[in-house]
Amino acid sequence: MFIKPDYNVEKLEDINFDELKAKGKSVLLFDLDSTVMPSKTGCYLPETKELLSQLQKNFIVAILSNNKNKDYIKKVRSISNFAVISNAAKPDTKVLKEYLQRIGKTHKDAVMIGDRPLTDILCGKFANITTILVDSITKNSEPKIVRFIRKLERLFIRK
Ligand SMILES: [Mg+2]
Repeated sequence: MFIKPDYNVEKLEDINFDELKAKGKSVLLFDLDSTVMPSKTGCYLPETKELLSQLQKNFIVAILSNNKNKDYIKKVRSISNFAVISNAAKPDTKVLKEYLQRIGKTHKDAVMIGDRPLTDILCGKFANITTILVDSITKNSEPKIVRFIRKLERLFIRK
């Protein structure tokens, strides 16, 4: 089985958000850990924080995370001015679909952006929404074993 994300970029800044807007996309769903913040830190990098607030001028921004740690999610919510959805059980699509329905949007409006092919991208594929695979935000400082696992997981990716 191969997974083909619609876009495959190195970092969030490489995403052509103008193009997404031009294609009628209005909802950006970001994965949390390793996508918009270094894993388990509960803090945005200043440049990511800035990017997300810029994007909010043109899109509905939300985080869709599989994380279920209540204290951690609470911390993330306290520094975010958009929806932070936890316990999303990606690649399952139930939580994602419920969220889109709640905000009156459909799969045609949404984009899923994340660092994990088998959760984030597969979830987007199953939900029939546009998908963007990004490299981990900390890819250059991760332990060898993590990098190895990421490499393995990317074997499923077809560019
Ligand atoms: Mg992640």
